[in-house]
This record gives sequence, structure tokens and C-alpha cells, in this order.
Amino acid sequence: MSKDKSEYLINRKDNQYEVVIGLEVHAQVTSESKLFSTSSTKFGAEPNTQVSLVDAALPGMLPVINEYCVKQAIKTGIGLKAKINKRSVFDRKNYFYADLPQGYQISQFKDPIVGEGKVILDMPDGQKEVGIERLHLEQDAGKSIHDLDPKYTFVDLNRSGVALMEIVSKPDLRSPDEVNAYVKKLRSIMRYLGTCDGNMQEGSLRADVNVSVRKKGSKEFGTRCEIKNVNSIKFMQMAIEYEANRQVDLIEDGQSIDQETRLFDTKKNETRSMRSKEDAHDYRYFPDPDLLPLEVSEDFIEKLKLEIPELPDEKKKRFIEKFKLSPYEATILVSDNETSNYFENVIKKSDVKLATNWIIGELFAALNEKNLEITESPISAGNLSKLINLIKDGTISGKIAKTVFEHMMEGDKDPKKIVEEKGLKQESDPKALEALIDKVIDDNREKATEYKSGKVKLFGFFVGQVMKVSAGKANPQLVNEILKKKL
Ligand code: ADP
Ligand code: MG
Repeated sequence: MSKDKSEYLINRKDNQYEVVIGLEVHAQVTSESKLFSTSSTKFGAEPNTQVSLVDAALPGMLPVINEYCVKQAIKTGIGLKAKINKRSVFDRKNYFYADLPQGYQISQFKDPIVGEGKVILDMPDGQKEVGIERLHLEQDAGKSIHDLDPKYTFVDLNRSGVALMEIVSKPDLRSPDEVNAYVKKLRSIMRYLGTCDGNMQEGSLRADVNVSVRKKGSKEFGTRCEIKNVNSIKFMQMAIEYEANRQVDLIEDGQSIDQETRLFDTKKNETRSMRSKEDAHDYRYFPDPDLLPLEVSEDFIEKLKLEIPELPDEKKKRFIEKFKLSPYEATILVSDNETSNYFENVIKKSDVKLATNWIIGELFAALNEKNLEITESPISAGNLSKLINLIKDGTISGKIAKTVFEHMMEGDKDPKKIVEEKGLKQESDPKALEALIDKVIDDNREKATEYKSGKVKLFGFFVGQVMKVSAGKANPQLVNEILKKKL
């Protein structure tokens, strides 16, 4: 499909269609061991070195529920403002695949551990609420490796039995941008909670993306297609764009949409049919006879509530109220716990407004350029707050501060030392400045006369000259004052 065609749905002004999206996010539970066995979940180990007899599904092995994973799921439910179900049931979802030695996946079908909840999106034009349908616990499957050998497929069972939370949204999303915001918010909440690391490169967060289209204003949903196992936000957005346009084209052509499962081909940027609902699997779900229904008490849930930290929405509210940040600034600073901690450490001892600007502006740009996380910042929170105080008390100008900042990025040095060593201290002595200014006026007699005869625009020229002669060190405020008097 040509690009200009693929843009009409989302960008064309007169577009008559609306895209409807619902996500099934698979989030790997942060846990050292698997959902029903004691094997390690560590990423990147040699194939098949983290497989217990339970994970390999040897006959007679019995699964034992990992209480920690249950706690993680409930905490996530609390973070999603969701209903926690005191009784949930593990079912067998039966299907055959080489990387699924049990012949079934243990999952939750009718009775999930977490019911309805919600996620708030911060969109440029305001907030939007997205409903959560459910969250259930399930086992991950192993991994088939097709590209190691021309003839054979290999199977790695390290991932087999790792705990996943499947988080199902309501079909409330309406654009690729909302999907971007939704996945990021979900990831942020789980990272605050410590329940999923959200690492998409390592496959800790993947999603099945359900897409349908309908005429704008229509009350009914169109038939949806489900795009399986998309592992980056960018790919989710590309897949939605492609898929929505494919469906619009079919409808415009008088055809109907088949409800089917599709794959997104990241190289060709298109979705392809995998299987249709007609031959959809009948998984023959039934309660796993090896596992009793999972029951948790009110007390168990209440104790977990005490462990819930301040989450992004609440933190954002506090930042806006207490520090008078704009919603935009607050949204950026609370996006992850590390950033908000850094910010709060900087402002312990320095001006909030300056700190906000320096972190969102200079620091983020510099970290971005070096491809560093905030936790790897060469400039510690303590030293950034020292730099801000040097600006605040007039020791250096904002402009010189940028030079000092660059030196600090080279290694975490005390800005005071940098200012001393490099002689960058701001000149705030009126006597010294007067001498400088006299010289500048003297050197530019003609312009001074023009200024006096009404060409006030020349004032900026004089400020510039003084700054230049002082190598940027003259206190701009004082320069302005003295210049006004002298001219
Ligand atoms: P299934 O088990 O067949 O995948 P679910 O009821 O669990 O069905 O729904 C899966 C996802 O599909 C949910 O995230 C839901 O929001 C989404 N969904 C349902 N109907 C539509 C639709 N018409 N368009 C887009 N997404 C939809
Ligand atoms: Mg589904």
C-alpha cells in the first residue's frame, strides 16, 4: 500500500473513519523464579539451563504456585485501580506446539485474579481514561529458534513457565498516539510498583493488538483483527496504521472484514493473515486439576496496599500542587521513578523553576545525545543543584552555566571548582564594569551619538559588545543598569 494512501485515515481532514483499538499486553512478572517452579528467570542464560522437571513437563510433576508472583499481580491490580478477585481459578489452555511440552498453558480464563480497572492517559489535549477489562496470570511458553540451522528448529525452554500478567484493555483506544501513551503509562505504573521491568528488547512487554474501524459517529464496533505478539511501541503504531487502512479499503470496496489473527511483518511493514476465526483454536479450557482455586484474604490484600508506593498520577498531582509545575513538566518528570527521584534530590537545595528547566532542557538533551539513562548521568543531583545555586546567587550567568554544565558532563565535578579553575566567575563589581563600559562607549563614539539621538535599538549592540569584551562574564543585569546610565 502506498504511503499517501496509508495516511488518509489518520491525517486526512475529511476522513470519515475512526479506528478502534484494544490491547492485550503480556507483561513478564518481575520475580526470580517461575510461576509454578523454582527455576531461575534470569535473562540471557545458555539455552535450556533454567528448566526444572516441572517446566519440561515430565510426567507426574506437580505445579506449586509462587506466592511472590501472586503478590506482584495483585499489586499491579491495585496500581490499575482495579477490583481484586479474592477467588481466582487456573485453567488449562490446551494446544500443541513444539515449545510447549505440557501440551497446555496454565492460564486464567473465566475467573482472573484481577477484574476491571483503569489507566489515565496524559494526551496533549487533556486526560483520557482507558478501561481495563481484566488482568490474569499465566505461564509463558518456550522459544522455537528457526534461524540457527537451515534444516532444524531448536527449542529453548528457559522461558517456559515464566510468570506473565496478561492485561486486557477495553476497546477504548482511538489512535496510534493513544496506544503509545497507554503502553508507556502501563509500563511506568509497573516499573514504579516493581512488578514488571517493562524491558521491550528482552521481551518483558509485548502486546496483541486488536484493531477495527467504523464510520465516525457509528455506535457499533466493526469486526476486529488481532495482530499477535508485537514487541515495540513503534511496531504497534505501524501495524495499527497499516491494518486500519487495509480495513477501510476493504469496506470502501464493498467487502467485509474477516475476524482473524494476523502477523505484523516488520520488514515489509504490513500485516498478514495467520489464521481466521473459522478455524480458530478451541482451547478446551478447563480448571487445572493439579491446582486448587486461588483464594486470598482481605487481610492479604490490605497488607499489599501498604506496600504500594506513590504512583505516577498521584506524584504528578503533588508536583503540580506543591512545586507549581505545569502539567507538561510534571508528566515528563514523573514518567519514571528514577527521574522524579533525581528531580526531588536537586530541588532539596535549589530553586524549583531553574531545576525543572535545567533537567528537562539541558540535562535530558545531553543524556539523550550520549544515550544515557538518568541513573547513569555524569552529573549528580547534588552537583546540578550546586550549579543552579551559582546561577541563582549571581556567581555565574545562565550562559556561562551552560559552559560549566558541559564541563560537568565530562565527569562529575563540583561546579564551583570548574568556575574557579577556568576563571568563569561573573563580573559583578560595578567599578570594574563601569571601566569596561566606558571603554566600549569610547570605542563606539558614533553609535553612542546615534543612540542618544533616538536610535534606541542600538542598546542591544552595546550590551553585546560589553559581554564580548568581558568574555561573557559580565553580570548582564548590572551591565544593563550601568549602560542605561552612561548612555
Ligand atoms: P479474545 O479472547 O478473543 O481475544 P477478548 O474479549 O479477550 O477476546 O478481547 C480481546 C481484546 O480485543 C480486548 O483488548 C478488547 O478491548 C479488544 N476488542 C474487542 N472488540 C474490539 C473491536 N471491535 N475493535 C477493536 N478491539 C476490540
Ligand atoms: Mg485475544
